[in-house]
Amino acid sequence: MTDVERRQALEAIAAEVRACTDCRLHEGRTRAVPGEGDPDTEVVFVGEGPGFNEDRLGRPFVGRAGDLLVKLLASIGWRREEVFITNVVKCRPPDNRDPQPDEIAACSTYLRRQLEILDPAVVVTLGRHSMARFMPGARISQAHGTVRPADPGTGARSALVFAMYHPAAALRTPSIERESYADMSGVPTALIDARRRREEAAATVEPVANAPLASTDARVATESLQPAVDESRPAPPPTTPSPQVSIDEPAPQLTLF
Ligand code: URA
Ligand code: SF4
Repeated sequence: MTDVERRQALEAIAAEVRACTDCRLHEGRTRAVPGEGDPDTEVVFVGEGPGFNEDRLGRPFVGRAGDLLVKLLASIGWRREEVFITNVVKCRPPDNRDPQPDEIAACSTYLRRQLEILDPAVVVTLGRHSMARFMPGARISQAHGTVRPADPGTGARSALVFAMYHPAAALRTPSIERESYADMSGVPTALIDARRRREEAAATVEPVANAPLASTDARVATESLQPAVDESRPAPPPTTPSPQVSIDEPAPQLTLF
């Protein structure tokens, strides 16, 4: 898919989202918030749902949580325009309550289709509800700062998922804010890892002519990494957010392109 085709496909989804009445959240919205960013990015951030400011502007993460997200990105030398930012539900839950399971289910088709188009190398989940879609059963207190392969059923067919706390939680609790900076410093390493795994998967499937077989191979290659990353926090580079990880380029200066 070319950059232009990707942009058009994402815009078509955004138009559907803006007209969507598939769950009760459409009743209270001012504007739906489909998501935004670089259609050619390798990294997608997934929050929970629009808040007050997002609902007014129709853009994700434009309030205080968004300001912190921008600062967290800046700490690794990235700008929000370089990534894609969206949410599990595209319309604001009343009074910023948690999105309910049926609302998340109703909206999941949009996120899945966005991920199919973007085909990111890394999906960064922000908060519990986003993490639950990509790391079922994980607890955020344990899973934050760690990666695991995405289930291709999420739409991200060959990605690593990296879990982070929600920036709003970081705004409330200084220790979580500190941990969020530490976690974010591990994202470039996850990207390097994800690139390598995608290259390996591509090398594995290249000689195979027919598509169904190829995608099976890719999935097997993806799953084979699971045990290593499941060792979790004190373990090696992918799970340890550490500025001194031994890679060729210094992680904080990593550019996406
Ligand atoms: N919180 C979210 O989860 N998403 C937004 O877009 C803004 C705040
Ligand atoms: Fe549609 Fe999602 Fe908005 Fe519900 S939250 S109305 S499913 S776009």
